Amino acid sequence: MEGLIEFSLYESLISQGHSVGVGIELSELFAWQIDFFRLYRGDKFHAIYEEFISEGEVVGVGRVLAAEFVHQNRPYQAYYYEDGQQQGYYDAEGNGIQKALLKAPFKYNQRISSSFNYNRFHPVLKQRMPHTGTDYAAPLGTPVIAVGDGEIIESRYRGVNGNVVQIQHNGMYKTAYLHLNGFGPGIKKGVQVKQGQVIGYVGRTGRVTGVHLHYTLYKKQRPC
Ligand SMILES: [Zn+2]
Repeated sequence: MEGLIEFSLYESLISQGHSVGVGIELSELFAWQIDFFRLYRGDKFHAIYEEFISEGEVVGVGRVLAAEFVHQNRPYQAYYYEDGQQQGYYDAEGNGIQKALLKAPFKYNQRISSSFNYNRFHPVLKQRMPHTGTDYAAPLGTPVIAVGDGEIIESRYRGVNGNVVQIQHNGMYKTAYLHLNGFGPGIKKGVQVKQGQVIGYVGRTGRVTGVHLHYTLYKKQRPC
């Protein structure tokens, strides 16, 4: 498959007769290299991928095996590789191209006091409200770390959320850390952070019943 971006990746795939499923795969694959919200007219891609065929019809899209995306005249390649121990996507030099976010924003395990739940009874407001994130009942002052490399896009006191830090990791993933007691050294809007860097400390600022960290991972602006 190959295509040329004229409008969005989505529209280009549809108008050129390709499956949107491949576009989703490609945008995940290259999430750390390319901001898919800022594709350019003239960007190009080629991909080799598996198709599931039933009775002569394509019924689904499988794995992308190899892909090249030319973004602003710069080529990015991805090759799928697996052996007994690992699997993933690599560039032509064999470097892994997908970076994993940490599962939790702490150096050591912390207890989850409230998980992601669309139908939670809010302890302060006494009504049902979706809880779009995870609460960690960590002790006051516990260092909170960035789950991945990225840019600080917010670092300030914000009403009911208390002291908030938000990190944009790439065009796909963003994380938010709420109710912080304070901010890590040098943490302010526009600063680049590394995975594992201390961005703040667990607190009870904003509208809360007790000390905890509220953490949300956003994928394409949606909490997940
Ligand atoms: Zn929460």
